[in-house]
Amino acid sequence: MLITHDTECALSILVDLLNTAPEVCGDERLPDVAALDAFVVRQEISEIDSLTEDDLRQVQELRSRLREVFWTESTEAAAELVNAIVAAAGTTPRLVNHDHHDWHIHYFAPHVAIAPHLAAELGMALAFILMAGERERLRRCEAPDCARVFVDLSRNRSRRYCDSRTCGNRLHVAAYRARQRSAEAVAPA
Ligand SMILES: [Zn+2]
Ligand SMILES: [Zn+2]
Repeated sequence: MLITHDTECALSILVDLLNTAPEVCGDERLPDVAALDAFVVRQEISEIDSLTEDDLRQVQELRSRLREVFWTESTEAAAELVNAIVAAAGTTPRLVNHDHHDWHIHYFAPHVAIAPHLAAELGMALAFILMAGERERLRRCEAPDCARVFVDLSRNRSRRYCDSRTCGNRLHVAAYRARQRSAEAVAPA
């Protein structure tokens, strides 16, 4: 799979953002500007100036649109959504090296507001996944009581559960049972 380290970083920001939605955990995990600010710090998002209520509302709107991509049934449908998100953001790709990072491309316009910033970066990360023919890696957790999304970057695309504590444990239990079954299958009667 031709997915660069930069794209992987953007995808982890994307998943973090999407899983703050109220549909996921019953309550809004980005309820105020302070929470959005904490998100920016946690994800080390660069070139963000001070945040406002408007920024918060726009990020919440963007989050809903980005989440839709995980519910699409075809690459055509996903591409249409991603193209609309990226076009609305207005991208200006430029090569940069800042802080401790090597040369990489910023797709967002310099010091643009956080919503178009994230739309450009996260939209392009999704575009690279689709371009690689990997839409199937955009997953929704299969645990019945979980609405989290994740990007399955495992070699054989076998991940079914998100890495939240509950679902992660489920994953371990399932793997343990599978190992037990195969051990029983080869054990002499
Ligand atoms: Zn950067
Ligand atoms: Zn889950």
